[in-house]
Amino acid sequence: MISKILHKLGVAMQRHKGIIQITQWGIVGLYLVLLIIPTFMDLPPRHAHILSNLVLFAQFIFWGIWWPFVILSMLVMGRVWCGVFCPEGALTEWTSKKFGKNKTIPRWIKWKGWPAIAFILTTLYGQLISVYDYAQAALLILGGSTIGAIIVGFFYGKENRVWCRYLCPVNGVFNLLSRLSPISFKSNTKKWANYHGEQLSNPHCPPMINIRQLHGVSSCHMCGRCAGYRDAISLQSRSVNEEIIVYGGEKDNIWQTRLLLFGMIGVAIGAFTWTVSPWFVQLKQLLANWLINHNIFWPLNATAPWWILTNYPDNNDSFNWLDGFCVTFYILGSGLIFGFGLTIIYKLLGRFLRKPNLYLYISQALIPLAAAGLFLGLTATSVKLLQYDGIILGWIKNARAIILIGAGLWSLYLGYKILRKITNNIYQFILSFCLFCFSLIPILAAWWFMFWGW
Ligand code: SF4
Repeated sequence: MISKILHKLGVAMQRHKGIIQITQWGIVGLYLVLLIIPTFMDLPPRHAHILSNLVLFAQFIFWGIWWPFVILSMLVMGRVWCGVFCPEGALTEWTSKKFGKNKTIPRWIKWKGWPAIAFILTTLYGQLISVYDYAQAALLILGGSTIGAIIVGFFYGKENRVWCRYLCPVNGVFNLLSRLSPISFKSNTKKWANYHGEQLSNPHCPPMINIRQLHGVSSCHMCGRCAGYRDAISLQSRSVNEEIIVYGGEKDNIWQTRLLLFGMIGVAIGAFTWTVSPWFVQLKQLLANWLINHNIFWPLNATAPWWILTNYPDNNDSFNWLDGFCVTFYILGSGLIFGFGLTIIYKLLGRFLRKPNLYLYISQALIPLAAAGLFLGLTATSVKLLQYDGIILGWIKNARAIILIGAGLWSLYLGYKILRKITNNIYQFILSFCLFCFSLIPILAAWWFMFWGW
């Protein structure tokens, strides 16, 4: 029953491209309105509310609803956001189709490290200029990414999404999160080979995937254009663990593992916790005292423009150079500590089980925990904005605890299944599983400190 519904849904997406395009352009319009108009408006007065002030409304939509639920949608529907709703995807593809120069994609664009580096730098820069709080900062970061998408679409590919596949700062994050999706387009290789019907030209796949080999959702944008091709491709349900347990061992992209461990776990923890961390305050006090004792005062002045460091004197909100240094140090330090710590533990595990590449496989068991962290961190902004409006969510702490515990248990289950697949020796299994459980403790502890401890 479910498989029939999904199959029909996939084919309907293929047949009704027009509706998808209208939806995409509608979202492009909404995105541009929410991104551009607030930058021409004054900072919201203290008594302003989300529903009475467009700046606050745009802030709430972007950071309180849009981003957390895009993250959630990856877990529920795969990358449907990319293929059906994303304004940058629509704009880069449209530019490439209408005006594209169709130049050969240079090797530097195809470098596999971009998703990790772009995510880490964008996250850090967003914190330095307070992207969640100010419309200009949001325009600079989101608008900059959109202009990048249009420029890449203009030069490279014909009707393709070169930007989305190689350069989008959240491409790697979506790639990892969508591995947990319960639906995906899949190719049936037997049906493909035995197809004797009408000879059709290959469907156009915007992220340039080899659709014959399609068995996972992580690179597929779920646009539905290939559905029904050679009677072999259809939208199907699957176990949420399938892509990690069954195919996770085949994926050996070291940069995706780095993005997960250093970026989605380490840098994300740093970026979401620095505002409430007493360690951050201690670090700043220590350095400030040192500077004063040595008669060095310039780092204590907020002289940087708003596009380098937050600077809104009218709002009593300005970062001095020392703030900027401490934020950078804290966020990147958190990325390095978690990234190297987890890498070392999983490499030791691989050595112990004599599987050097196990580190790339077992790391993927952390995806549920990383997803929960991103979702909780982003919804903290929604909760804060609602609190300013006098809406107190009394149940939020319990909901956070349930999400964290659930994600932790899911990660443990994935780790258990991967290790069971790797070793039959019960003693080796127990020891390695204990080490894996141990690796989850610092991540859970960091979120506990953020929401309960500090
Ligand atoms: S494989 Fe390509 S064409 Fe098919 S649904 Fe995915 S993104 Fe679209």
